[in-house]
Amino acid sequence: MRTSIYKNLLLSNMDLEPDNPLTRRVVLLNILLLVTGFILGFFSFYNLVVSHDTGFAALDFVAFLGVLFSFFHMRKTGDMRIAVIIATINIFVFMCFLVYTMHGKNFTLIWTVFLPVFAMFINGSRRGLIISMFFYTIVFSMAYGGIGIWMDGMWNSESFTRLVAASLGLTFVTYLFENSLENAYSELEKKHDLEKKHLETLELYSITDPLTGLYNRRNLDNVFGEKFEKAKTHGSFFALFILDLDKFKEYNDTYGHIAGDKALQGVSRVLKNEMKRDSEAIFRVGGEEFCGLLMGNNKEKIVTHVQSIREKIEALNISHEKSPYGVMTASIGICIINSFEIESLDKMYKIADDNLYDAKESCRNCVRGAENISML
Ligand code: GH3
Ligand code: MG
Ligand code: MG
Repeated sequence: MRTSIYKNLLLSNMDLEPDNPLTRRVVLLNILLLVTGFILGFFSFYNLVVSHDTGFAALDFVAFLGVLFSFFHMRKTGDMRIAVIIATINIFVFMCFLVYTMHGKNFTLIWTVFLPVFAMFINGSRRGLIISMFFYTIVFSMAYGGIGIWMDGMWNSESFTRLVAASLGLTFVTYLFENSLENAYSELEKKHDLEKKHLETLELYSITDPLTGLYNRRNLDNVFGEKFEKAKTHGSFFALFILDLDKFKEYNDTYGHIAGDKALQGVSRVLKNEMKRDSEAIFRVGGEEFCGLLMGNNKEKIVTHVQSIREKIEALNISHEKSPYGVMTASIGICIINSFEIESLDKMYKIADDNLYDAKESCRNCVRGAENISML
């Protein structure tokens, strides 16, 4: 309850965290608008009904409307610029008017200390300082002119000097305070940004295979659902294939592990190139084993695409003297579906794996499972 009043009234209903530099500004601005709104509302009524001063009543009422407008405008748009301008003008004019009419009577000058504080808090230290200096130029001119006149001549040059020293001192301290707070916030923001970047990099590392730059097995679980949904909404055929390089152990044994790594990178480049549509994804799921997800309007398109991937790996022409084809080849097991009632990565993976086993047993450098639409 308390938090909802705070959020509604003082945060303009915005979702602002306490560590957001805007939070403090929005709260202060709303306090200022509410207080000045109340005062202006009261005086427009008082001047009209009690003092019968319609001129001042109208002036107060216009300022009151300005406050009302900026209060609701900020709530509606989340933009505080208009509110800042109106609140600053209001307090500026109000304070000048107070000094002009009261001539220092009853300690009224004490109220002027609020101007630099609010001006800097809601406008920022630099603009607030300029506004304060402008304000004090006017106030000090009036106060200087009042020496020997104001307060039945009691307002003297000593009072004036005290007013100037205290006002400038407070303005300076407020500036230092606000400025150091702004610097601290900006440092905090920089650190937040850096942390966010590091976190994103870390996240990317955690789902990327360092050798090939492809997604790893861990990310298959996350991406599968997304691609499945895409295929489902497009009413397309959806397929998962497992691609395994043929006789890779013998390749390693013959040409060395480093050559093996290079071959894996070459193959991965082909896979990345061939599987870069939004609806597709490719993962390195084991040593020389890859898994692909794709969709198509019909089964034939999917099969042609997968066949072309196999052909492109063969066309890399990576010499492999232990292979019956003389070059590096890949075997592929595929699972194609067009019914989307069950979303199961495990089931599709198992079917594709069985088909891969079939390919390894019967042919190598071939695709198996392309003949059937699988039921999960
Ligand atoms: P098959 O045709 O039946 O698939 O035989 P294969 O030799 O390809 O399969 P097997 O599973 O027997 O061997 C896979 C080999 O892949 C064994 C391992 O040394 C190699 N391997 C796994 N990860 C890496 C890697 O990161 N770099 C290199 N160079 N080799 C790897
Ligand atoms: Mg293999
Ligand atoms: Mg293997």
